[in-house]
Amino acid sequence: MVVNSGSTVGSGPATPAKLRAVIKQHWGFNELRPLQAAAMQTFLAGRDSLLVLPTGGGKSLCYQAPAVLRGDTTVVISPLIALMKDQVDGLRACGVPAVQINSSQSPDELRAAERSIADGKIRLVFASPERMATSSFRALLKQINVQRFAIDEAHCISHWGHDFRPDYRQLGDLKRLFPQASIHAFTATATEPVRADIAAQLGLQNPEILVGYFDRPNLTYTVEPRSDQYTQILEVLKRHRGEAGIIYCIRRKDVEELTDWLKQRRIKALPYHAGMDQADRVASQDQFMQEKCQVVVATVAFGMGINRSNIRFVLHTGMPKSIEHYQQETGRAGRDGLEAECVLLYSGADTATWQYIIEKSIADSEAEVDPEYLESARRHLADMENFCRPVKCRHRSLVEYFGQTYDADNCGACDLCLGNNERVPESTTIAQKILSCVYRVHENFGVTHVTAVLRGANLAAIRERGHNELSTYGILKAHSQRELTDWISQLIGQGLLTQTTSEFRVLKLNPASWAVMRGQLQVTLHQTVAAGTGNQADSSRPRTRRSSEAASASWEGVDRELFEHLTAVRLQQAELRRVPPYLVFNDATLRELARVRPASVESLASIYGVGESKLRDFGPAFLAALDEHCRARQLTRDQPAALKSSSGPASPASISGTKATAYSLFRQGATIEKVMKQTDRARATVLQYLCSFLLEEPQSSVQKWVAEDTCRRVTKVAETIGTETLRPIFEALDGAVTYDDIKIVVAHLRSSQ
Ligand code: ADP
Ligand code: ZN
Repeated sequence: MVVNSGSTVGSGPATPAKLRAVIKQHWGFNELRPLQAAAMQTFLAGRDSLLVLPTGGGKSLCYQAPAVLRGDTTVVISPLIALMKDQVDGLRACGVPAVQINSSQSPDELRAAERSIADGKIRLVFASPERMATSSFRALLKQINVQRFAIDEAHCISHWGHDFRPDYRQLGDLKRLFPQASIHAFTATATEPVRADIAAQLGLQNPEILVGYFDRPNLTYTVEPRSDQYTQILEVLKRHRGEAGIIYCIRRKDVEELTDWLKQRRIKALPYHAGMDQADRVASQDQFMQEKCQVVVATVAFGMGINRSNIRFVLHTGMPKSIEHYQQETGRAGRDGLEAECVLLYSGADTATWQYIIEKSIADSEAEVDPEYLESARRHLADMENFCRPVKCRHRSLVEYFGQTYDADNCGACDLCLGNNERVPESTTIAQKILSCVYRVHENFGVTHVTAVLRGANLAAIRERGHNELSTYGILKAHSQRELTDWISQLIGQGLLTQTTSEFRVLKLNPASWAVMRGQLQVTLHQTVAAGTGNQADSSRPRTRRSSEAASASWEGVDRELFEHLTAVRLQQAELRRVPPYLVFNDATLRELARVRPASVESLASIYGVGESKLRDFGPAFLAALDEHCRARQLTRDQPAALKSSSGPASPASISGTKATAYSLFRQGATIEKVMKQTDRARATVLQYLCSFLLEEPQSSVQKWVAEDTCRRVTKVAETIGTETLRPIFEALDGAVTYDDIKIVVAHLRSSQ
């Protein structure tokens, strides 16, 4: 791979304009994502900082771009060697000189890397915390007078985090050893105690703490009761044929069984868990990273360092043990900013499984158990279980869990908001029938037998026990096995029925069950709209599963055949250069290429993700492929790009065609009414578009949409009580200003904060 010596942007003081030029030159990005500018500023100014952004939020660029602009050497501490190699390869592909220093290298490689560092040729050095602890490495860094340290995955330094690594503790010495250097910490873990602990452990001085917005608008969240697991898994795989995904299982045994089962169905999936041979594990990971395998079945052990950006689905076959885990694991999907789906198959029994695993791991370990740990584990499970209930928009639940507010009424990207999950009519009656059946079989049987009796199955096991004589025999025969299993699991999850943890998992009644049977307690059950199935309960409505607007919009105008062809070109180029394919171009870039179909080097250069190095290295191959494909099919070239498709995950605008139209109208100063008419959208939707438009493209004033006087009044109140929530502002103004106007002004104020 060709590596040039850095930026050609010129010398003199680092200005935002120069920074943008560096980013355009090396990465081909036209815009910055939220908080990136602020984070880069702390870096350039040499002020300690901590940046908290969700996975895929774009943390790396915050130290990489300023490092290039500074022109000296920045040291990046990273916990995993796989992660480092990837970053180094990625930087080199963008024409940024970078090296790694770690135990995976031969002595010769190490010496060469050290020499290039000593010569001042390197902009970014990636090292492990252990390496950082060695005196020879420290001496080298002193020799070149390092001024900037970036600490990746900084939560690893905290006991409070979910991934504490003892070797990170040594980083507490950095401040003492390099008093003149600034330290910049990066993490995706959001909770307040962890944040404070990171700053304290690293000894950050008056750090700027920047906390990003936790929502990932390009992810669609679905929680389905787990009833017929393998069928449900197949449905997800069918929706994502040929695309990359991770299937998470709770236990190693589940990983192995599922991988075997998929193999029998000729679906190529590789296993990954901590009990496997190191070599096998590495092989699975490599195949996945190199796009030779699309699906990995794994335990939570799989994840850190998985930077593949085009993961289109993450499927959990069981409930994770905390919302933090869920956020992290699902966060691996859609890092390229394109739509991705997160499906969680949940059963009321998952909590008990986790409790068993946690208790067993404690019993197996010699160490004394911290009672607080147990309590915190229990709380995490309860929070996670609450999340699984079909009560509240999933995007809202997640964002609120991390202490932030969610403004939209309908996210358009979760099972609840898409209407893919709805109430079962007559839930209470159904629950009463199920519970009565449990009573009639003397609380001696598990789910399979009880559902068989309810459906009136003609089985020897039922006849032998005389259960075909029961009043509840066949009482729910209109429903499928899957539905009944699903509802029983919901009853367990809601505490309305108990399942023993013994081997036979017998169903037992509890006081709440009796309250339901006596009609003292109402029950709500939910059902998921499965792909293309008719609805038995309500046949008057069409019941096809709806996908998010993001899913269809991001393919708008894309020539799919060409996209597939370009994917093959990418694989070829990657193999030629021995890098993972997504380091050549990510999927967002390929879709843009297949949409715009650039006809010249100049128009290719304007595509998202095409910087100077990549233009030079990969431009000819891709242009040739485009020429050939378009000539053969007489396709027009240089089509319009998707508006703002470049800004990735943090920008909801990237995903919706309608929204893009709205944005362009707002830019021209169109009123809300006009945009409603032109986009054929309701007022609430257009208002949402306007607010996100203001956040993403800050305007000097909002007078086009709110009267000047109203704007002034809202601003005045907001200055004293803040813009966290709207209601206090509404009340402070005695209800004289509408919520709509407040929303617009608040968005405007937030954009300038
Ligand atoms: P994180 O480390 O926060 O999980 P990354 O740094 O890996 O996220 O960034 C995720 C993806 O977003 C990468 O593919 C990166 O190239 C891309 N990206 C980062 N910043 C921008 C930007 N300003 N515009 C477009 N894409 C960006
Ligand atoms: Zn929602």
